[in-house]
Amino acid sequence: MIDHAVYWSSRGEASMDFRYTPEEQRFRLEVRRFIAGHCPRELTGYHEIHAEHVPLEMEFLKKMAAKGWLGAAFPKEYGGLGEERVPMSEYILIDELHHADFEGVALTITYLVGIIGNTLLQVGSEELKREFLPQMLNADVRFAIAYSEPDAGNDIASICTRAVDDGDDFIITGHKRFITCADTSDYMWTLVRSEPGTVRHQGLSILLMKSDLPGITIQVFEMMNGIQTCEVYLDEVRVPKRYLVGTRGNGWRYLMEALSRERMTMINFKAVSEPFERFVQWVRSAEMDGEALAADPVVRQSLANMHVKIAGGKMLQLVAGARAADKNYIPTLEAAACKMYRAMLSWEKATLALDIMRSQGLLTADSPEAPLDGWWAAEYGWAGHELSGGGGMDLNRKIIAQQGLGLPRWSN
Ligand SMILES: Cc1cc2nc3c(=O)[nH]c(=O)nc-3n(C[C@H](O)[C@H](O)[C@H](O)COP(=O)(O)OP(=O)(O)OC[C@H]3O[C@@H](n4cnc5c(N)ncnc54)[C@H](O)[C@@H]3O)c2cc1C
Repeated sequence: MIDHAVYWSSRGEASMDFRYTPEEQRFRLEVRRFIAGHCPRELTGYHEIHAEHVPLEMEFLKKMAAKGWLGAAFPKEYGGLGEERVPMSEYILIDELHHADFEGVALTITYLVGIIGNTLLQVGSEELKREFLPQMLNADVRFAIAYSEPDAGNDIASICTRAVDDGDDFIITGHKRFITCADTSDYMWTLVRSEPGTVRHQGLSILLMKSDLPGITIQVFEMMNGIQTCEVYLDEVRVPKRYLVGTRGNGWRYLMEALSRERMTMINFKAVSEPFERFVQWVRSAEMDGEALAADPVVRQSLANMHVKIAGGKMLQLVAGARAADKNYIPTLEAAACKMYRAMLSWEKATLALDIMRSQGLLTADSPEAPLDGWWAAEYGWAGHELSGGGGMDLNRKIIAQQGLGLPRWSN
């Protein structure tokens, strides 16, 4: 933490004031009440969001959109509020969804507005902005993000899906893997290789591809932890060129910016701290083999350690959030640091809870004896995923080593 503080202060911030203004505080309370009154409990967590819950989620997002909150910070001509009054509105909205355990909903909003909406706003053609932004801010459209392929996960620069130039269209052929929500999407935000003869970072483009075009086959599969995601096969899919995002061949830059925004969404430490507090609450009165857990010195010390680590994460989030409030700043380093630390803590928190609960921790929600409604068994499955989603730990360490610590590039 001290190293990070030194790094950030060396970039010019003498001090930071993390308190909300009275107006931000009022907005936060209004959002909190709104979520409590309107977000259906079926949408809690994110392991549960499957296709059957999509209509519920869209219904809730439409209510939020009606208040103007999905696009509070977007210009009025694209359906936003042009809101300068509450510059932290996006941050507060996401933070409150995490606070209330609606992590999946927070993720949907982040994809829709934070990643795709913001990137379109920055680099999209006027035509695309006018077509998509109002629909997005009104929650009329759903997107999936289609980057990964069977041989291109962390090493995304090695994607092979090709877009062949054919008059007014591109013809897309390839195979995308792990494309979450492709089955319920209207469009896929798709990374393709558009320039023949290029390798690695050169010659990539991003296309908005309608999900039901002829030549697209989507197959849903379920992971061991119950999360559903999709294989997407693309067989000579014809996509009009007007759905190209930004400049042709410039996709790597847009991708890096979008990935930083995606990682920023994984930084919310409320998703770690709130369940941890519920767990501590349970430990206070729980017994194992006739002994009070709260009296066990190993349990007490482990919980105290975790408490301190989470407090460090919250501080990291505040620093990163404050920097990301500047829309022109791409928070690559902050996102990598927060993403890595949160994934690590999520995993530690889940394994610690299961260690303390012993075999009872493995009981799932359908078991009446499961402590805390089996929440931790599901969380254990999800926490493992966090270590790889949005770029694995090693990739984020590389970003920090190069961009944060100024160490030389090392390619392996
Ligand atoms: C449930 C789920 C949902 C997903 N949703 C989406 C989605 O919606 N859209 C999408 O595009 N993708 C999605 N993904 C893909 C996800 O982003 C990739 O799984 C992730 O990038 C890791 O890629 P990989 O699985 O191929 O692992 P690999 O890239 O093969 O990595 C395996 C291991 O090698 C390490 N490693 C790899 N390369 C390096 C390197 N250069 N230096 C050091 N270490 C390295 C990694 O850290 C990791 O430990 C999803 C994945 C899952 C599991």
